[in-house]
Amino acid sequence: MIEADNPAVTEKDTLPVVVVSACLLRANCRWDGDVKIYKDIDEIFGGAWIIPVCPEVSIGLGVPRPPIRLVSDCAGIRLLRPSDGRDLTETVREFAGRFIKSLPKNPCFVLKSRSPSCAIIDADVFPSIDSEFPAGRSHGIFTGEILRRLPSAVMTDEKRLESVMKPLPLQKVSSGPTPRS
Ligand code: SF4
Repeated sequence: MIEADNPAVTEKDTLPVVVVSACLLRANCRWDGDVKIYKDIDEIFGGAWIIPVCPEVSIGLGVPRPPIRLVSDCAGIRLLRPSDGRDLTETVREFAGRFIKSLPKNPCFVLKSRSPSCAIIDADVFPSIDSEFPAGRSHGIFTGEILRRLPSAVMTDEKRLESVMKPLPLQKVSSGPTPRS
């Protein structure tokens, strides 16, 4: 409810807050410059205060840009750019920290699957900067900071959202009593 005697509280402040990876909202921020259409996300959350974020563009990486990847080494999982070996881990973490502090209370998150920055569970992790095949999967570096700072935040990705929005398959329903075994 809006507190009429508190002019600092606006109607927007009362809406649920959903942070969405900007590329899921048709923003031109993907590494390859492609704009993919993910239908329904802004419709599903039409009544919410949607806050788009692209951590890679926000730290100054351009569009298009050389790909980056997660690499596991003795220091943990790092976010590296194979084209020049640059380590972007701390830059993305610092951005994530500032971004999280700027958010309204109790945000939930819809993040892009498979991304080394935004994935919640399924970004490829490579054993070295130049290895051809991944050795495992993890969350992205941006998401890892959200998980660390907001451990109880509700979070999903576009794949999980699509699967729960799919119509249920038709099932044959028996009209008679269940036979006893
Ligand atoms: S997955 Fe995340 S970092 Fe990559 S383009 Fe989308 S919003 Fe930006």
